[in-house]
Amino acid sequence: MTMNFPPLEPNIVLGIAAHPDDLDVGAGGTLAHYASLGAEIHYLILTDGGKGSDDPSMTSARLTDIRHKEQQAALEIIGGKSITFLDYPDGELEVTMELKKQIVKSIRTIKPDVVITMDPTVIYSAAKGIINHPDHRAAGQAVLDAVFPLARDRLTFPDLFEAGYKPHKTATVLLVNFNENNFAVDITHTFSTKVKALKAHISQFGNLDDRGWIYTMALNEGEKNGYELAESFVRIDVN
Ligand SMILES: [Zn+2]
Repeated sequence: MTMNFPPLEPNIVLGIAAHPDDLDVGAGGTLAHYASLGAEIHYLILTDGGKGSDDPSMTSARLTDIRHKEQQAALEIIGGKSITFLDYPDGELEVTMELKKQIVKSIRTIKPDVVITMDPTVIYSAAKGIINHPDHRAAGQAVLDAVFPLARDRLTFPDLFEAGYKPHKTATVLLVNFNENNFAVDITHTFSTKVKALKAHISQFGNLDDRGWIYTMALNEGEKNGYELAESFVRIDVN
């Protein structure tokens, strides 16, 4: 159900996700839309993506290198500015204070007014026959904890504060949920950019059909929200 939020016109957007491609799948049209309005777009990718291959000759080290390059190419297509990889092992991401601290450091450096991440409350969908990847849940949880209260509080991580990383309050969080949402973004004009960015992830979406599931998803969200094509989120305007 869509709530009556004012439109978002962010200056700085920080997307934080577990794997290379997560942000482009869940929010690529939205990120390209905000980039086209002049927003600075930054990505923070928490794992190395080193497990996402069925090719028996592929190694994690080679795949990590490939996926860094693919994500960099996708970011450029979206119109993004910077990307940081933390390179935790794919499939093993845990919600730790160390991870939260690294995310706080990024938030305090980039000072986003909008943070986009995965909704950690999605564990599975029986209707769709999907178990959410545990890295997605861990990423979303660590990011929410970092946004509130850790990045905001001066006395948290005093070593960061002393090194010049001043507290930062993020105004809005957009959670990629796929089941429930309260906010939609019109991606009619950036859908083709999203597809191009996804295709840059050759190891994952080399044969992506422009009119396949990615289109159906945008069409369904559009129909629910009065746009031709849309992406939708759980939006939290943090008090
Ligand atoms: Zn993922």
